[in-house]
Amino acid sequence: MTDMRVGHGYDVHRLTTGRKLILGGQEIPFELGLLGHSDADVLTHAVMDALLGAAGLGDIGRHFPDTDPAYAGADSIKLLEYVTALLKEQGWQIGNVDATILAQRPKLAPYIPAMGRCLAAAMGVAADRVNVKATTEEKLGFTGAGEGMAAHAVALIIK
Ligand code: MG
Repeated sequence: MTDMRVGHGYDVHRLTTGRKLILGGQEIPFELGLLGHSDADVLTHAVMDALLGAAGLGDIGRHFPDTDPAYAGADSIKLLEYVTALLKEQGWQIGNVDATILAQRPKLAPYIPAMGRCLAAAMGVAADRVNVKATTEEKLGFTGAGEGMAAHAVALIIK
C-alpha cells in the first residue's frame, strides 16, 4: 500500500542592512538582506519544515538549533540536502513541493525559475515537482511594510 503524507512549513525573517538576500539558494540583488543565524533563506527553511513535518520528524529548530555555532552562516541548501537524506533513510520519496514567498520588494519573478531548479536539485527531484511563487501582501502587515519576508510551503511525500 502506498503511504502518502503532507506537511506544511512556515518561516519569517527580518530584513536588515548589511546582509545578503538569499532565497531558494539564489543571491538576489537588493539593498537589504534577511537576518538569521544561518544564511536566513526563508524559502528553503519553509520547504525543510514542510518535508520534516510530512515525515513526522519535527522541525528545523530541532535538527539545526540556532544556538549551535556549526550552523552560523550555514548554506540552507546544504541543510535541505541533509533533510532530504534523512527522509530517504526512512524510505520517503518527495512527491512535490509548492511554496509561496511573501515579500513587498524586490520583484522576485526573474529569480523564481532558478530558485525552483536549485531546490529541486537539492531534493534530488525533477524540476517540475517543485513550484515556487511569490506575492506581495498589498503593503499590509510586516511583509508589506518591508520589515521582513515570510514563506509558506507544502510538501507531499510518498513511501
Ligand atoms: Mg528560518
